[in-house]
Amino acid sequence: MLNGQNFIAGEWRDGADWVEDVNPSDVTDIVGRFAQARPSDIHDAVAAAQSAQREWAAAGLEARAAVLDAVGRELMARSKELGELLSREEGKTLPEGVGEVYRAGQFFTYFAAEALRNLGGSADSVRAGVDVVIEREPLGVVAIISPWNFPIATASWKIAPALAFGNAVVWKPASVTPASAWALAEIISRQAIPKGLFNLVMGSGSTIGRELAANADIQGLSFTGSGAVGSGIAALAAARFVKLQLEMGSKNPFVVMDDSDLDRAVDLAVNGAFGGTGQKCTASSRLIVHRPVHDAFVEKFLAKTKALKVGHALEAGVQMGPVVSAEQLAANLDYVALGKSERAELATGGEALDLAHKGHYMAPAVFLNGRSRMRINQEEMFAPITCVIQADDLEEAILLANDTPYGLTAGIATRSLARATKFRHASRSGCVMVNLATAGTDYHVPFGGVRGSSYGPREQGRSAAEFYTQVKTSYIHAGAPE
Ligand code: NDP
Repeated sequence: MLNGQNFIAGEWRDGADWVEDVNPSDVTDIVGRFAQARPSDIHDAVAAAQSAQREWAAAGLEARAAVLDAVGRELMARSKELGELLSREEGKTLPEGVGEVYRAGQFFTYFAAEALRNLGGSADSVRAGVDVVIEREPLGVVAIISPWNFPIATASWKIAPALAFGNAVVWKPASVTPASAWALAEIISRQAIPKGLFNLVMGSGSTIGRELAANADIQGLSFTGSGAVGSGIAALAAARFVKLQLEMGSKNPFVVMDDSDLDRAVDLAVNGAFGGTGQKCTASSRLIVHRPVHDAFVEKFLAKTKALKVGHALEAGVQMGPVVSAEQLAANLDYVALGKSERAELATGGEALDLAHKGHYMAPAVFLNGRSRMRINQEEMFAPITCVIQADDLEEAILLANDTPYGLTAGIATRSLARATKFRHASRSGCVMVNLATAGTDYHVPFGGVRGSSYGPREQGRSAAEFYTQVKTSYIHAGAPE
């Protein structure tokens, strides 16, 4: 069994306590036990990170690029092994777990190259004899607080740019997925980095997470998780003018028009709604279907949903794993009961499943005849639950798609360029997908949402530099040579 310690100030340390990491596919399988940090560990980690950061920033671009490249290549080379560990503790299917670890590796190799491309600029001054130089400098110590649903990928798309641009990192991962976090930290710990540059502090969000967010010596804070926690963190950061980046909830719509390739639209809807057991910030939790194809779409969509094989995440052929924890399963079942009480029609699924392994299984749920203002169509459920809402035309579909406090991704299935273009322009979301599922993004372009989904600069791609660096403008008067 894995005994995972925290990595603080360049050393592996026990904590105040240990917690067990339980496999959601089989609760008799304990993945490992993991140290829970003390508040004083946060202080030690940040103090060590401060001096290590100065060394790292001075180490030069090639040294940073080489470290990131090595981390990325190891993640890719070990994606099968680490993907299995990830799926075992989080519950996503093995292909999803392996794919996530490989993608995490790509974040590191991408940002290895970006470290070399941190180009500044220069400008003529409005004053004679003055040159202007514009540079991007590291922030200093960056705190990273990450969720459980993409335990390696989300952390990697934050840690890689933070290090690439010369920052130090103190990372608090989600408590239910410590093994993936520990595995990534173990790889980073073996690289040629200054002692204290990278720190892993595991522990509960309400104590250790809060302590980190409230630390006076962090200069940046990047968080992905729920809106409620995000707004609390924002208040702490604002009080001390800490640079902030938040990725939070969503309620992504997938619109199906009457001119779409219906079989493809059904596949995209199934993938978007139930991939990763619906536990994605990009999941299609609302299916807005054009009335002329509603019945045909629903028939095919229900057939495919009912045929999904739910089971142990590591079993071959399983298409949907368990939900992450007993608490999440209970919350999901409450949402199913809420949907029924709101008079949406439960057409399939929504019940806990008793399978051969004792785990947190539920049947993927589809509600029909939904209304936009039902709570199941307004609140993020983070569950394998979706709801079909009918629309008379494109105008109504757009109104419905935009009718939530969120705006992360939005998708449309149509063969009409005109309809797709109108939707793309009218969508109040950060990412729009045309004839593609709402879930599934690239790593070299910006990712993020609008309204209640995101706050602060975009993540990933070249946009990452906007958060992980600060701009310095220098004015130079050289004078006349002697
Ligand atoms: P949380 O927002 O509770 O947790 C996200 C991260 O923040 C975890 O590392 C957590 O630690 C930490 N945290 C929790 N409370 C605090 C705090 N007071 N101060 C600092 N850090 C804190 O999300 P959950 O993982 O519990 O998921 C709950 C819901 O959030 C989901 O059902 C979903 O709706 C949404 N969510 C959205 C995501 C997205 O990508 N948009 C991703 C994950 C969740 P710990 O694990 O120890 O609690």
